[in-house]
Amino acid sequence: MIKSSLKFAACLVATFFAAQASAEDYPSKVITLVVPFAAGGPSDTVARLTAQSMGTILKTQIIVENVGGAGGTLGAARVAQAKPDGYTLLVHHIGHATAPALYRKLAYDPIGDFEPVGLVNDGAMALIARKDFPAKDLKEMIAYAKANKEKMNVANAGVGSASHLCGMLLMSALNTEFVTVPYKGTGPAMNDLLGGQVDFMCDQTTNNASQIKAGKVKAYGMTTAKRVAAFPDIPTLSEAGLPNFTVTVWHAMYAPKGTPQPIVDKLSKALQEALKDATLKQRFADLGSEPVSQERATPQALRAHLKAEIDKWGPIIKKAGVFAD
Ligand code: ASP
Repeated sequence: MIKSSLKFAACLVATFFAAQASAEDYPSKVITLVVPFAAGGPSDTVARLTAQSMGTILKTQIIVENVGGAGGTLGAARVAQAKPDGYTLLVHHIGHATAPALYRKLAYDPIGDFEPVGLVNDGAMALIARKDFPAKDLKEMIAYAKANKEKMNVANAGVGSASHLCGMLLMSALNTEFVTVPYKGTGPAMNDLLGGQVDFMCDQTTNNASQIKAGKVKAYGMTTAKRVAAFPDIPTLSEAGLPNFTVTVWHAMYAPKGTPQPIVDKLSKALQEALKDATLKQRFADLGSEPVSQERATPQALRAHLKAEIDKWGPIIKKAGVFAD
């Protein structure tokens, strides 16, 4: 008995020192950052800007791997099952918190299967339509969309994505239903909106800032409580006729459960450093997005935020009665 307890203790000590040693060398090879949406979309943009800056700080290359589909749940599942050694990470958005309520069967536990690294940014969404959509403001847009609801196609990045959540809230606020068209990310959805194959979409400004500024799409309002600094002329949806319609899309970084804490802490420190970078801040601001404060780019802040968002959105989604299998 004493012999086996000694053996167990020795094993624990060895594991501890192995984790310390691997954390000291970390990172000694390329890190893969999984983005659970297609290339060219908002999560991809946020992840690539952050990866570039963190890679310089950590003196290694961070490559982005796009694992799109099923509203971000395929990419998240891939990271939940990855080796917890700090070389496979995830950048996901608010969908990590809405998935438990939206999916009847989820292949992972958003809290239990991950080590939080820190929050990355807060971003606005814009309600946009194809350039020739016959409405000049939100009120006209709503009237037209309701009168033609059988023909209205709303693009999204699949059940559980931020665009899906926003579209669902819109249909619930208007008490109507439109035809939804899912993509592997809103990057490819934007191509179809520009081509006029779909009518409208609610998506992060990180994906549509340049198209809005160039007049290639029509923007009817922002989902934020206050106007977005980069778009002072675009009203909030609340101002434009949908009171209290607010959604902030936040992104955050996670490692698989069991990743040694010293590695998680190293990543979190690098993330905080990256978010101080003036070039990164400017790129985010141009896209209508904001890096989080240093305090929020920490495991503790993300753990608390994720739990609060799961608690906030669960009842709203259940009330709207939307599920995916
Ligand atoms: N913005 C997308 C969404 O609707 C995802 C993406 O392509 O980044 O959640």
